[in-house]
Amino acid sequence: MKAVIIGAGLGGMLAGAKLTKAGHDVEIFERLPFVGGRFTNLLYKGFKLSTGALHMIPHGSRGPLAQMLKEVGADVTIIDSDPMAVIRKENGEIIFFHDFRNELTLTKQVKLGTVLVYSLKFKPKSEISFRDWVFKYFEDEFLFKLADSFCGWALSLTAKDVPAREMLEIIDNMYLYKGSGIPIGGCGAVTDALSKIIRSNGGRIYTQSCVEKIVIENEMTKGVMVQGKTIDTDIVISDIGHFETSRLYECKDRVYLDKISNVKPSKGIKICLCADEPLIGHSGVFFTPYAQRINGINEVTNADPSLAPPGKHLVMSHQAIISDDLNEEINLGLLDLQQLFPGKKYEVLLIQSYSNGWPVNRASSGSDNGNKTSITNLYIVGDGAKGKGGIEVEGVALGVRNAMGEIGVC
Ligand SMILES: Cc1cc2nc3c(=O)[nH]c(=O)nc-3n(C[C@H](O)[C@H](O)[C@H](O)COP(=O)(O)OP(=O)(O)OC[C@H]3O[C@@H](n4cnc5c(N)ncnc54)[C@H](O)[C@@H]3O)c2cc1C
Repeated sequence: MKAVIIGAGLGGMLAGAKLTKAGHDVEIFERLPFVGGRFTNLLYKGFKLSTGALHMIPHGSRGPLAQMLKEVGADVTIIDSDPMAVIRKENGEIIFFHDFRNELTLTKQVKLGTVLVYSLKFKPKSEISFRDWVFKYFEDEFLFKLADSFCGWALSLTAKDVPAREMLEIIDNMYLYKGSGIPIGGCGAVTDALSKIIRSNGGRIYTQSCVEKIVIENEMTKGVMVQGKTIDTDIVISDIGHFETSRLYECKDRVYLDKISNVKPSKGIKICLCADEPLIGHSGVFFTPYAQRINGINEVTNADPSLAPPGKHLVMSHQAIISDDLNEEINLGLLDLQQLFPGKKYEVLLIQSYSNGWPVNRASSGSDNGNKTSITNLYIVGDGAKGKGGIEVEGVALGVRNAMGEIGVC
């Protein structure tokens, strides 16, 4: 079978590695001069910054992405975070993430246990948001703030923008796969390893090659057009989300178009800091529920010192974008950092914002539309078609697994 993949982001590369490993003929077209999309390194002043991700793999060496990397033979070492995460309380005290229950009254602790067991088994069928779900059972300021901090860090959304159903799937996966990890060499090491596998299996990856059109005949894909040339294929896999993909052909299915045009991307801001002394001191997530904007911070050099020049630390904060005033959002983030690390010396290396065509997630968590399209042999992978309960790249891996199932590749 011949497959053409649109986009060499993580989703496209995972799909390419799975298909070439199964002996299929694969061509990947990427419009940019580099592969990896939002999951690769950006070299800056001797630091390995990134085009998107915070160099974190949400479920570390045990999660769906790690599993898929192993299956295709990608040579990636993931260092599991230790501790998984901590929470900075209002008074500045730091507690382990798992101890958040101790901040609640005894009655609320008991209730939380019961409600969680019940809700994880019987997920809500309604459209209730995670914030409203928390409110329904617990009127607790700390839980609200922690929910926003977690959703902001992991999904670039506030708790009111995440369906409770999806958040409970995420909690299920957290119990199943546990906490996060950092790939040695950063996120670029992951997409570079996949690129090597695809090429060694005979796949071809072309950069600076934008797919301009998907050629459809009788509701079947026949090929793609790249720089005016038609490339014939049996299937097309697109890594650019449902909506952007539908703009590459004349989609006539109104129901499908209505469904996919309502999907909103999630938007965020990343601030990269350089410090001579550690600001956090471990490789886990530093949740900041009492900051005005920053949702969480990591210090990846505690897992992989090679991400910074010798003796330096790379610290990255993330915040969901709340208002339309981007400058104000950035200023509030910078102010938070001053207040979180009073008296500590650091330099702001780079501030990056993500929205529209280069967002944090093409489909905000809980709004994914599966991997199928209205065209029989056209599939979507990537963070516009994540699998259930999959945080970020774990969702990308789960989505690629689902797509491979649809295509009949295991
Ligand atoms: C600030 C930020 C922090 C994040 N942190 C993390 C994190 O720590 N951990 C984590 O798990 N996830 C994180 N994420 C999310 C993660 O980076 C993305 O979910 C993931 O990289 C998406 O990969 P993708 O393959 O779906 O899309 P992309 O990486 O966007 O790949 C799509 C590719 O298609 C190309 N393309 C577009 N149109 C065409 C065309 N017509 N023809 C050819 N090519 C085309 C694009 O150039 C791009 O390279 C973060 C994202 C951001 C922005």
